[in-house]
Amino acid sequence: MPRLDEDPFLTPPILTGGRPMSANKTRDWRSVRPVLHAEKCTGCMLCWKFCPEACVSVQGERPLIHLDWCKGCAICVAECPAGALTLAEEEAP
Ligand code: SF4
Ligand code: SF4
Repeated sequence: MPRLDEDPFLTPPILTGGRPMSANKTRDWRSVRPVLHAEKCTGCMLCWKFCPEACVSVQGERPLIHLDWCKGCAICVAECPAGALTLAEEEAP
């Protein structure tokens, strides 16, 4: 296989065998976190559907956000039609 510097249009190989995604915790570098206001939540689960990290699970009729894997992208906040999610800043370590 040609080296990347020999063929700049070659797609580099994706290496497997690293650690599992579940080990890639984000809590060390996230700067904001979503906060659920359960009294406003309708249980529509759009936050579960749109979370790109799949770190929202369903607990009864409400979402449960697993902050160990949440990257604070705020997509869930933007998608929530009920205004039940807001962002809070993380404290500096
Ligand atoms: S998107 Fe908003 S209203 Fe819907 S389940 Fe999530 S927090 Fe609740
Ligand atoms: S902030 Fe982003 S990563 Fe975190 S729960 Fe919401 S959509 Fe998922």
